[in-house]
Amino acid sequence: MKPILTIKQKCRECLGKKEMLHKDSGTIWTCPYCSGTGEQETEIYALRDFDECEDLEFEECPNCDEGYSHHDCGEDTCCCIDTSNNVECDECNGKGNFMSHELCCKGTGYKIPKEYEPYEIKKVSGITKEMYILYNDRKIDGFQFDKCCRMLEKHNFKEDDNVVIVNVRVL
Ligand SMILES: [Zn+2]
Ligand SMILES: [Zn+2]
Ligand SMILES: [Zn+2]
Ligand SMILES: [Zn+2]
Repeated sequence: MKPILTIKQKCRECLGKKEMLHKDSGTIWTCPYCSGTGEQETEIYALRDFDECEDLEFEECPNCDEGYSHHDCGEDTCCCIDTSNNVECDECNGKGNFMSHELCCKGTGYKIPKEYEPYEIKKVSGITKEMYILYNDRKIDGFQFDKCCRMLEKHNFKEDDNVVIVNVRVL
């Protein structure tokens, strides 16, 4: 799969200096995070381009007991003999469990292969903000910032569409 956008930015580890102080030996060495190029690449993919995850997992609702969350009989002072829960849980709509992607795919609903790790999933609105900050801090130039804005437009992203951000680390 091709990234929809690749952003070059100053290496966050050596701050673009291409070399850094080695923590253990105290000597200057070539920055291993950018392989001495002073730049790191961030690749951005559209989450919707990945395969959808079909392994929904079954999770018990933490808010209730088999779909009922508490007892309510409409009396201020309850004198029911049976005080068992009778109110449907509103978190799971009385089902007592959730079908969730929390365990199978970290809640993304998509299958993102291992080789993309470590990745972050962000909303389009979030990435726009972040790019602006990077631009303001002069970590990316106007050209990259422009490229990003045009890309988001071109792909018809909505504010809350998700993108996958992969920081390519050359180690
Ligand atoms: Zn570096
Ligand atoms: Zn009662
Ligand atoms: Zn529940
Ligand atoms: Zn899943």
